[in-house]
Amino acid sequence: MITFKNVQIKYDDFLAVPDLSFEVKEGEFFTLLGPSGCGKTTTLRALAGFLEISNGRIEIDGQDITHSPINERGMGMVFQSYALFPTMTTRENIGFGLKVEKRDKKYINQRVQEIAAMVDLTDDQLDKNVSNLSGGQQQRVAIARAIAKKPKILVMDEPLSNLDAKLRKTLRKEIKDFQQKYGITMIYVTHDQEEALMLSDRIAVFNKGNLEQIGSPDEIYNHSETEFVCNFIGDANAYTLADLTKMNLNTVELESYDKFYIRPEKVLLSKEDNSQLRGRVISKEFYGMYTYYRILVNSIEMLSFQSESNLEQFEINDKVTVCLNKLDILPYKEGGH
Ligand code: ADP
Ligand code: MG
Repeated sequence: MITFKNVQIKYDDFLAVPDLSFEVKEGEFFTLLGPSGCGKTTTLRALAGFLEISNGRIEIDGQDITHSPINERGMGMVFQSYALFPTMTTRENIGFGLKVEKRDKKYINQRVQEIAAMVDLTDDQLDKNVSNLSGGQQQRVAIARAIAKKPKILVMDEPLSNLDAKLRKTLRKEIKDFQQKYGITMIYVTHDQEEALMLSDRIAVFNKGNLEQIGSPDEIYNHSETEFVCNFIGDANAYTLADLTKMNLNTVELESYDKFYIRPEKVLLSKEDNSQLRGRVISKEFYGMYTYYRILVNSIEMLSFQSESNLEQFEINDKVTVCLNKLDILPYKEGGH
């Protein structure tokens, strides 16, 4: 439905996005994920029409929209800052775009009421000045305003970044439910790995304006194609071949690689002395639902994640056996796959 073909985006002489190609399917929740400054907002602004691209082509449903003005692209937009009109009521904010389009009052009222119900805003909140709403409510107003004109595509740029952790979790669930219920095609930008994994049908991982990998959350997390993706998407122990040898790990078939990653939840611990891989607990961080242990195995450190469903508890200086499946050692070549 949305196609980027060899898109290049520049700020004067600075090449922010050299050569970007991807496709988003209708009804898909598609997330652009990457560290700050990697070109997510730039890509979104080009899609929405705020930025002219210097090369390539953008299509929607096979139609070239590369040079179409913003209001002809049929997209709703939600920004990190919400960008609401602070002196207007919620109702006026939501209806603003329809008023600009000179829709009649009756239609606007009806539509505002309809959308308010969709995003759970009450009549009371509709008549308040938006400045008097909480952060979470303002975020709902921003979404309501973005969908007022029934766009087929919704783009969101870090819409939850300004909210506290608990509210962020609630609202991201709401955004997902909402997107699924109304079958909206969503292009969502975040630097938050967990948010991307939880929300997305597919994730595009960006690094310095380039795509590292596109895939489902499972593919991105469990089958990271590059060292960058593996590092960025979750915690990982990072080793050289020498480190693995020092730990007495079997390195047959791994010798042609340079870097090795092991996710902490794949490092299982037990008190039984039944393996070659023995270590000592050197630190313990308790988080309630889970505990992180740092283990020293022949002078090499290893981080292990144990959920509270593991009934065995370990204390500092305990001797432990480390159980590791060889398939959970993820090998990469220097800087590449
Ligand atoms: P992200 O949203 O992933 O944090 P951006 O798309 O905002 O990243 O920025 C990508 C790169 O483009 C960064 O190096 C940033 O400094 C640069 N950049 C962004 N906006 C401008 C601008 N208006 N002028 C010049 N450079 C910009
Ligand atoms: Mg940004």
